[in-house]
Amino acid sequence: MSEMSEMAEMAEMAEMAEEMAEGDGNAGELSTAVLAMSLGHGLYGMSGIGKTVLAMNLRNRDLEDLEVESDGGDESDEELMVTLGFVQPVEESWKMARQQFPCKVGGTPAWLDPLKLPEGENTQCGICGNPLQFLVQVYAPIGVDDAAYREEVFHRSLFLFVCPDMACLQQDQHHQRKKREEKPCRSVKVFRSQLARTNRFYSYEPPSAESEPALKGVPVCTWCGTWKATSRCGGCKQVRYCSRTHQLAHWRAGHDSFCRTVQAELAAGNQQSDSTATETLQSSDAGQKMGTRVSETPQQPGIATAASDKLWPEMELIVGEEEDSSPSGDQGVSNDAQKLLEDYETRRAQNGEEFSAIDMQDVEESSLDQQHWAAFQARLARAPGQVLRYCRAVGAKPLWPSLQDQPKEGDVPRCQNCGGSRMFEFQLLPQLLYYLGVQNEADSDSLDWATIAVYTCAASCNKSDSSFEGYVEEFPWVQLAVT
Ligand SMILES: [Zn+2]
Ligand SMILES: [Zn+2]
Ligand SMILES: [Zn+2]
Ligand SMILES: [Zn+2]
Repeated sequence: MSEMSEMAEMAEMAEMAEEMAEGDGNAGELSTAVLAMSLGHGLYGMSGIGKTVLAMNLRNRDLEDLEVESDGGDESDEELMVTLGFVQPVEESWKMARQQFPCKVGGTPAWLDPLKLPEGENTQCGICGNPLQFLVQVYAPIGVDDAAYREEVFHRSLFLFVCPDMACLQQDQHHQRKKREEKPCRSVKVFRSQLARTNRFYSYEPPSAESEPALKGVPVCTWCGTWKATSRCGGCKQVRYCSRTHQLAHWRAGHDSFCRTVQAELAAGNQQSDSTATETLQSSDAGQKMGTRVSETPQQPGIATAASDKLWPEMELIVGEEEDSSPSGDQGVSNDAQKLLEDYETRRAQNGEEFSAIDMQDVEESSLDQQHWAAFQARLARAPGQVLRYCRAVGAKPLWPSLQDQPKEGDVPRCQNCGGSRMFEFQLLPQLLYYLGVQNEADSDSLDWATIAVYTCAASCNKSDSSFEGYVEEFPWVQLAVT
């Protein structure tokens, strides 16, 4: 096929896909509603999170996706709202403090429960063993219309971590289908935390810009600012680490000279340094120069800092609008597109098997996947900056970039905390990689994904009977980029 005709075909495909993404091609049925909300119910009157949501009624089109177990009736015909997430630079750093319940990307996590952080293996890539890197957190309280809603789960945040090594993410593909008994090793992990409105960490009242956390968090690693510190530098005793890996990274990045200076001062019997060094690290000029900081500095209560310059850039995640891009007055055009759509739907419904009997099997199948990819792209093109799609509802499904490697029934394990079913909650899009500054050349081995879909406990269960505190691990499904 010549390049030109290939391009023309792709253009036609994209056009057709755009039509498909429109729904049933009947613009009148495609009702939209503007709602004021955060990602969740927004009862708290949150500030700092984008509040205006153009809620899009997304009719579910995928026939072969995971069946989400529902305890209610058949609600598959109910139209679902999808909320989009966009990134923007952090303009006011106080908004990223944990007492502000931020939605954010990169930097350090604003742990909702600042004491009972995930520990041990939970913090590590299951493939290479290195500490996982914080990627995104979503403040997503349960809506009042959600079956899982209860007053005692007032605050709720989800945290997603990933190993920055693409080789690990490729290995992760072989593990995500494994059952728990087979001890799957994941390079992507998700944790859920939730709290009652009355809790020991935060004020009952909505926060102001000046709000401070009611309780200090557990000390976190000086290098990553993410995981609980489990050891302290034996030389200067001023910095703490989550792991040997991060201690070494910090040492190589310049802590060695800082540490020796402090040790020399201590050896010289510097009384002042001796009496203040261990607890008030921030008072050391040398520490400032070396980028050595304690977590949750007095200047920015509730925000953990990190010495590492390898973290992903910190950005605010705001909730935005998905515009209905259906061009008006194109009824003439859409007849052809409608036919293409119907053809596509017919082939989709045949779902591979009957279809494979057709002579042109391979050609048609690759074309089917190309069409699916084009439909995915066309849908995203309506709001090109979107990095996240959120929809916690019975029957909600991710917008899959590919027909391949979708979870089949049983691939999404039941909640390991309560044994209940899980449901789709949000997905990350490949566009996020662009904002993270990840190189995305075909020949590079840098991080790349088509989507990461997160499934969470449908009941949003408590960590234990006695307490809401702590973190429950949830389940991510990764689709790698279509090649
Ligand atoms: Zn890894
Ligand atoms: Zn660390
Ligand atoms: Zn040291
Ligand atoms: Zn559960």
